[in-house]
Amino acid sequence: MLLAAVDYYRPDTLDEALEALVSTEGARPLAGGQSLVSILKLRAASVELLVDISRLEDLRTIEVADDGAVRIGAGVTYDEMATSPDLHQSYASLSNIAAHTVDAQVRNRGTFGGNLCHNDPINNFPPVAVALDAVMHVTSKNGDRDIAAGDFFTGYFANALSPDELLTGVTLPALDGRSIGYQEVEIGEAAARAVAVVATSNGNIESANVALGCLPIPMRAPGVEAALAGAPTTAEAVAEATASAADGIEPLTDADASADYRLAMASVVAKRAVMEAIEGGHHG
Ligand SMILES: Cc1cc2nc3c(=O)[nH]c(=O)nc-3n(C[C@H](O)[C@H](O)[C@H](O)COP(=O)(O)OP(=O)(O)OC[C@H]3O[C@@H](n4cnc5c(N)ncnc54)[C@H](O)[C@@H]3O)c2cc1C
Repeated sequence: MLLAAVDYYRPDTLDEALEALVSTEGARPLAGGQSLVSILKLRAASVELLVDISRLEDLRTIEVADDGAVRIGAGVTYDEMATSPDLHQSYASLSNIAAHTVDAQVRNRGTFGGNLCHNDPINNFPPVAVALDAVMHVTSKNGDRDIAAGDFFTGYFANALSPDELLTGVTLPALDGRSIGYQEVEIGEAAARAVAVVATSNGNIESANVALGCLPIPMRAPGVEAALAGAPTTAEAVAEATASAADGIEPLTDADASADYRLAMASVVAKRAVMEAIEGGHHG
């Protein structure tokens, strides 16, 4: 199906974009268009004005702070994440995830911010942001605010932004020696996914953040995290600590996998992600 008629505006500045979002009822940001255009073609959403933010320079930078924290602009594409020397040095895991997201065409257009805002359960980055305790930077005509990643994702394809707000960027904290593991079951787009951020010392796990994806809202697994803290870094101990990963999650049944299958896979991907982090994972 073709797009219904919709107005289109490509502002040159962030201020113009924010003004446009409040100028028209039904205005909506357009980033890479890799999800939104499909939705509009399916007539699954009606939009009056597309505000194309893809060329706003303010949204397109990657900044690494002296302490190792990284701020990635919402408009940075997956390809730019994959090829940024700065990101590769400070957060190689993120470069790597971006480099393996879908295909070259989508990577050239799809943006980090669009991926997070869209919150499709198959999207790669929502559980990464939650596992890392990322901070989402948001702006509107009324000012700026920061939202913790754990509060940003509010439901299936939903986030905490109001229609006049833009996500401008995301800060990922310094890893401080922690390693990242990222594991998924690739059935269809993705049936299950887990991200682990782990610190180890002398054969023991000092701390572990574990987030599960392929869910309406990416979720931390607090029971697993508590069981991992202080446990030995052995496969047996990790398997035991991650066995309860499915507790409290409510996956959906879709064309890729049933909810029961996703529940069964939660502990599998959690264990693999933690072991990947322990075995070196990505120090970044
Ligand atoms: C066939 C196909 C398969 C895919 N498979 C995967 C996959 O397996 N894993 C994966 O991670 N990705 C996948 N993607 C890509 C991914 O779905 C999109 O790139 C992403 O969801 C949207 O990013 P975008 O920049 O294209 O945003 P758009 O499509 O332009 O926008 C998506 C939504 O976010 C809003 N939005 C965008 N940017 C902002 C902002 N800065 N502030 C506020 N709101 C904003 C828009 O208004 C819209 O509602 C796939 C894409 C395709 C086409």
